[in-house]
Parts: sequence; C-alpha cells; structure tokens
Amino acid sequence: MIFNELISMEPILIKNALLKNKKRANIIIDGNKIVAVSNSLHKGAKRGRIIEASNKLAIPSFINAHTHAAMSLLKGYADDMPLQEWLSKKIWPIEAKLKEKDIYIGTKFACLEMLKNGITCFNDMYWYPWKAAEASAELGMRGFIGALFLSIGKSKEQAIREFKKQFKRIKAVAKNSNNLIRPTVAPHAIYTVDREILIFAAEFAAKHDVLLHMHLNETKEEVDGCIKEHNARPAEYLHKIGFLRNELSGKYIFAHGVWLNEQEAALLGKYRASVAHCPISNMKLAVGSALNFNLLVSNNINVVLGTDGNASNNSLNMFQEMKIAALLQKFYYNDPTKLNASQTFQLATYNAANAFKLKAGKVAEGYLADIILIDLNAISMVPSHNLISNLVYSAQNSVREVICNGRLLVENYKLIIEKEEKIINEARKTAERIVSNSF
Ligand SMILES: [Zn+2]
Repeated sequence: MIFNELISMEPILIKNALLKNKKRANIIIDGNKIVAVSNSLHKGAKRGRIIEASNKLAIPSFINAHTHAAMSLLKGYADDMPLQEWLSKKIWPIEAKLKEKDIYIGTKFACLEMLKNGITCFNDMYWYPWKAAEASAELGMRGFIGALFLSIGKSKEQAIREFKKQFKRIKAVAKNSNNLIRPTVAPHAIYTVDREILIFAAEFAAKHDVLLHMHLNETKEEVDGCIKEHNARPAEYLHKIGFLRNELSGKYIFAHGVWLNEQEAALLGKYRASVAHCPISNMKLAVGSALNFNLLVSNNINVVLGTDGNASNNSLNMFQEMKIAALLQKFYYNDPTKLNASQTFQLATYNAANAFKLKAGKVAEGYLADIILIDLNAISMVPSHNLISNLVYSAQNSVREVICNGRLLVENYKLIIEKEEKIINEARKTAERIVSNSF
C-alpha cells in the first residue's frame, strides 16, 4: 500500500558528528535503529548513504507530547481573547465546518512544520483522526493519534459508536505504517466527556493496551466546576470514578496539569502518569498559574513538553517550548536555578520517549534512529561553550537533517519525501476557504 516504501531503507552513516558530550562519532543506522555510535567505521557502512557531519551536532529528535495538528490551518485566526470566548465564538464554530480533507491537509502542513523544527513524533487529538494518521505516515513521521471522545449533546451509545469507528480507522492506517502510527484513546476533558464515557474509555484503553491522552487541570474554572459538580478536584474525580487504574499505570498522558495540587500530584504519580506541559499555550491563554514542575517531579510524574494546537501557540516548535518552559519556571517561582537547560532538554526527548514507550530520546546503540543534525554554523549555535544551553536558549533555524525511524526526511533544511511548496500552497488555500466559509 501507500507506505510500503518506508519499509525498504538504505543504511545511513552519519560521519564524524559532534555529540552533546562534545565527543565525535560515526553513527551507523541500519533499518530503523542506531546500530553503532563509535570512532571506528563499521565494515558495511559504505553500502548506504553517507552524511558528512563534521559541522553538525547529532541529537535525538523531539517529541511533541500534546497537539491538535490540523489546527495549523487556524494559526493567527483568533488571538488575544479569553479562553471560553475564544473557544465558543471563534474555534468551535469554524471546527464544526472542517471536513476530512481539511484535516489531512492541515495535519500535513503541521507535520512539515514539526519536521523542519526537529520533531519526529507527535501526540495528537483532533477531528477525523484517521486523516491525521494518513498525513503523518505519508511524511514518515511517528504519530500517536487519538480516537476522540466528546460527549456533549450525544447519547452514550452515539459517542461510543463514533469513537469505535475512529479507532478502527486509525488502526487500519497504523497497520500499513511500519509502526509509525499508534492509536490512543483520547477523551477530550472531564468537562466535555460524561462520567460513564470516561469509565468506558479507561476500560477500552486497558483492553487494547493503548495510551490515554486527555486535557486535565488546565484552568481554575475547570477545577472549580469539578468541585461544584462532583465534590472533588479533577484528578480526585478521575480516581473516584475508576478512570485511574493499576493496569493503565504509566499509560496516561495528561495535557497541561497547571492546577494540580499536592494531593492530585500524589495521585497521578501513583499511576506513573505523564503530564504534557504546554507553557506557551498556557501563557497565551492566561490560565492563571504556572505548572509546578518540582511538585510534579517529586511525586514521580513524568513531565514532558507539548506545543498544544497552532491556534493557541502559534508555532509547533520544541526549541521555543523548551526555552519558554525554562523561563516560565524561573520567572514564576522567582528562582533562576529552576528547570535548568539540561533538565529541559530531557523533557523534550528522553522523558517523552519514556512516556510513549519508545526506545528513543538518545543517540546510542540499540535506540530508534530518530535523530536530528543541528547546523553548528547557524548563528544561534555559535559559540559553542555549552551545546545544551544553545539548544534550549538560543537555537533556531538550525535543524539541517531529520531522520525518523531510520529514514532521512529532511536534508539540507529541505523536506525530501514530498514537495514542501505543494503542502504549503494547499494549506494556504484550505485555510482561506474555511475562514471565508465561516461567515
Ligand atoms: Zn490541547
């Protein structure tokens, strides 16, 4: 089928690359794995493609742990508004008009932006998710694609029926994707999904052994509403209804988590949950607090980073996300030692790989060949006193090559598996049409 070409890949030798420990090495990729990182050359290495990397830094590619990729079509459409008004007056009315094809085009455009910023894996939650899965697989990118639950205005039966249809379609794409696409169960949030559906979602995820992806504790209104309606804070409510369960330990990805208190953090830590911190979205939508990184980490919560959708960011760029995450902790807690560069880099790479059960996030033998090469001649990377500081605090426009699952996708700053111009033009046309149709 369409993705078969992804399976046959030539070996790659990345020659003489700088690593983040400032040592140089040849990196040999065979199939979808890194088979050697060493000073000497592997015998079989010359058979495949050789990438000269003496002016490049090899690092693991980034994982965007929470997004709504096709919202890339709404970038700049509605900014500087309060969250509820933004959603009800601008975002929801236009989303109601989106068609399957729009999701495909919007996700492709988002994948292009992500790949060129060094992101090779994203965790998505949006409408017509099987189209996002197709777009992602065609560009050779890893996509954790959520089958969505939104039960407002629907009967339980209808919500479940629609969810099952989505899950099945995502699975069908996943089957032919060389393991790039994985379905997840994605109940939108506690205030948009009924209790019974939440319980069903957890049971379904446990039965099918997939990750659960959900918004949680994003705003104070959400917490206050939950206390009023259920007499419990959001994470306590999830515990009370049996959404948090032992067989799903380590499989929860909660987006935001800004308003988690100590009891809730302890509860989520008990289930080894990951929290996808989206600092730019939180600041832009003024959610009124900052994630308490130390509280979460001290409770064994795995903190990772996400961009959220392009309508509340408006970029899909982990360099920006890392920088803002680090600055926000320092500023909000009035302590410049909070969330240092090295910790921040881990959130976007190694921690994220753990959240998604991928042997990735490191340039090391046996790990998935999800690697980016950073141009050491880029202005933002010079001088190189501290490579990690540069990556977190200054790097931009410096991702020269991108490899995902052993396949070269971006070479010399350019997407090589499809035409960038076509993806951009289609996105521009579609975005203009959906906005003009909405009036
Ligand atoms: Zn979101």
